[in-house]
Amino acid sequence: MKITVTVIKADVGGIGGHTRPSDGLLNAVRNIVRLQVRKDGKGLVIDSYIGYCGDDIHIVMTHTKGVDNKEIHQLAWKAFEAATRVAKNEGLYGAGQDLLKDSFSGNVKGMGPGVAEMQFEERPNEAFTIYAADKTEPGAFNYPFYRMFVDTLSNTGLIVNENLARGVKINVMDVEKGKVAELHLWQDKPTLEAALMYPGRYVVSSVYTKDNQPILAASTDRLHNIAGKYVGKDDPICIIRTQKDFPATEEVGSAFSNPHYVAGNTRGSHHMPLMPVRINSPASINFAIPIVSSLVFSMHNGILVGPVDGFATADWDYVRDLATKRAFAMRSQGFFHPATLVPSELEYAEGYRARMNVVWSKMRPITNNQQKSHPQHKPSQIPQPHQEKQITTQQPKPHIKPPQKTTKPKPLKAKTIKPKEKSDQQETKSE
Ligand code: MG
Ligand code: MG
Repeated sequence: MKITVTVIKADVGGIGGHTRPSDGLLNAVRNIVRLQVRKDGKGLVIDSYIGYCGDDIHIVMTHTKGVDNKEIHQLAWKAFEAATRVAKNEGLYGAGQDLLKDSFSGNVKGMGPGVAEMQFEERPNEAFTIYAADKTEPGAFNYPFYRMFVDTLSNTGLIVNENLARGVKINVMDVEKGKVAELHLWQDKPTLEAALMYPGRYVVSSVYTKDNQPILAASTDRLHNIAGKYVGKDDPICIIRTQKDFPATEEVGSAFSNPHYVAGNTRGSHHMPLMPVRINSPASINFAIPIVSSLVFSMHNGILVGPVDGFATADWDYVRDLATKRAFAMRSQGFFHPATLVPSELEYAEGYRARMNVVWSKMRPITNNQQKSHPQHKPSQIPQPHQEKQITTQQPKPHIKPPQKTTKPKPLKAKTIKPKEKSDQQETKSE
């Protein structure tokens, strides 16, 4: 029996900030979805589960309608619209913040909510785990995915499971350009590693066995591309099938046991470790440490059993301690990068630019006299603020004589006085 598992998530409001949805908001979602859960096959959905991670509500639905199905996506959209009305009535923070369009247009992709879904021939004892994260970005999963499917030191199953030892196919999305590259293990290992190095841009979107069985599907939409400007970090969610031909449930879970640093948290503008938390946990108000929860399901004929809370056992308390220590270590350096993100990734980039406009307005070309003593500023020489372009394109000329035609050029000397502003620009563009 071919079953589709669809999980759609959105942040449509939090209590007192970006903490967690209210019970009223969760009930509004449940009341809409419940109407379509009919185990006699006459509803849109066979089974469903609704929960949250931080301020993101996730709707898990099993059905037979395939991926990208309009009715299934519309059901989730209507549920989030109903929840938004409740959030507005309750005065919740960020009411409807992930619903970026006024009306549904066939698919929630590109409209704000995150989607992960896959269709497959259900195994007699189908097992899968959903990982839902908050206060971070889709690339936050690159590192644990790498540990699951590439790193034999993390996952012995890659050696002893015949199917995994053959290597898997990993689709990597360029979230800025909206393109996907299919990479094959093991021959593409260093190429994959180069792509995964920068999780802000290159993100694992799906994983298949060599014989095309789907193992993993992740949400990869990026809100700032959808809205044309940065409107919030897009907290990722993914479905991973486990056991038999796939990694064991515990091989997948343990990939989250080393809390690595990810982008996100307060104002979506910092780096902090990804902390595994229990199902239905609020976000931390300790600078909004990024969090991930683990929902372990069994499924038969599309009917769900579970979830088991994957990160509820005592060993994960130790991992939470590790994450807490790393969070304090990073926060101890305040606003200094890499505690903060690079300018192009800052969620509050306008505020940052406003501050930097003042800095740029005070910038002067460096002269020989000024190098020897402090410059005497005359008011008439001060450039107008908000002229970043003009200032950055007027690069000060190097104060060296151009090489004579009769002598050898000295490129190294010219390089050492390359203007700082230009190198900043280049870094931003290549990011
Ligand atoms: Mg929020
Ligand atoms: Mg969120």
